Amino acid sequence: MVELNEQEAQKTFSAFNTIAEMGHEQVVYCYDKPTGLKAIIAIHNTILGPALGGTRMWTYQNDQEALIDVLRLSRGMTYKAAISGLNLGGGKAVIIGDPKKLKNEAFLRRFGRFVDSLSGRYITAEDMNMNTSDMVHISYETKNVMGLPESMKGSGDPSPVTAFGVYMGLKATVNKAFGIDSLQGKKIAVQGVGQVGHYLVDHLIEEGAEVTITDINESNIKRVTDKHNVKVVQPEMIYDVDADIYAPCAMGATINDDTIQRLKAKVIVGAANNQLADETRHGKMLMDKGIYYAPDFLVNAGGIINIFPELMKNYNKPLALEQTEKIYDKCLEILNKAEAEGISSHQAAIEIADKRMADMGKVKLAY
Ligand code: NAD
Repeated sequence: MVELNEQEAQKTFSAFNTIAEMGHEQVVYCYDKPTGLKAIIAIHNTILGPALGGTRMWTYQNDQEALIDVLRLSRGMTYKAAISGLNLGGGKAVIIGDPKKLKNEAFLRRFGRFVDSLSGRYITAEDMNMNTSDMVHISYETKNVMGLPESMKGSGDPSPVTAFGVYMGLKATVNKAFGIDSLQGKKIAVQGVGQVGHYLVDHLIEEGAEVTITDINESNIKRVTDKHNVKVVQPEMIYDVDADIYAPCAMGATINDDTIQRLKAKVIVGAANNQLADETRHGKMLMDKGIYYAPDFLVNAGGIINIFPELMKNYNKPLALEQTEKIYDKCLEILNKAEAEGISSHQAAIEIADKRMADMGKVKLAY
């Protein structure tokens, strides 16, 4: 056994301390030698219901990076479900490795068996690098998987509904910032035109916005430029473009000390999870700079709102869209609360979600 002095021990990352600080209920490591599967499933909170959240496959640099990602993402799911009025808890899974090299039927079915071993406490779905066909393979081993194709009575790809929810949140925030929710002539910078981002651009162009896009994937850029008249900039330039609105739709933590100084936008609304690098500090910095920020876990909830009726075995797309449209009013409620109480919009949203969980937790105390 290696003995560490106190200073070294302090520098050492402690998984248990991190889990305790973030308040997770359960974290499960899954390893399967024959298929090369390495996954982590994190269940953050099940007060409101089973923990539902997608599986992300990514080439993480190391196990710690994967653990931190799954802990942050699963906690975000708790707040997303709570603020959206869904009876779901928060969970998420990450699979470590290159999807192009590792993903095959056996690999996915082995993952499905791990999901099944949690007996419904965790329900999976799509996230980055996982699609509806992958969910079909997982479904051979567990019923605790959603986001199946519509041909199998599932809810299909959640991305168009997520994009619609982001669009609703964007219009509400623009209303708050500019006194009118029209996007006609508004300059909008969209970072990432993948599954969600390209559908969002469709909505923005339809309303007459002037859109600038960026992406690291040329074919995703081409999919947009083939269809719409948009400006394209290099990925790092997106923070410096002259824009009224910044829509982060790629990765997390893009709102940080550096970018807050560079962004010219008065409004920030996008699909990416965990946009604020430091939730408390950067939430307040945006407020102090007079930037209207719509909390990510509220505006990107369309995907999970779309999945919920599938779980209830009653999938209905028009109803899912109707529920997603309510993000507009919820967003205004949060921005108004933040203004009235002099707190960041992120904090306002957390308080509303926490209250719902506390109230429902008490309901469940009675047998
Ligand atoms: P995606 O992988 O399809 O799209 C992400 C896009 O961002 C890709 O085109 C990628 O090339 C691009 N990108 C990556 N790094 C970049 C960089 N540094 N600069 C510019 N572009 C970059 O993923 P998605 O499903 O569209 O999801 C986008 C974000 O929204 C993610 O953070 C995801 O967690 C979140 N989200 C997605 C859904 C959904 O329904 N798909 C729901 C909720 C939240």
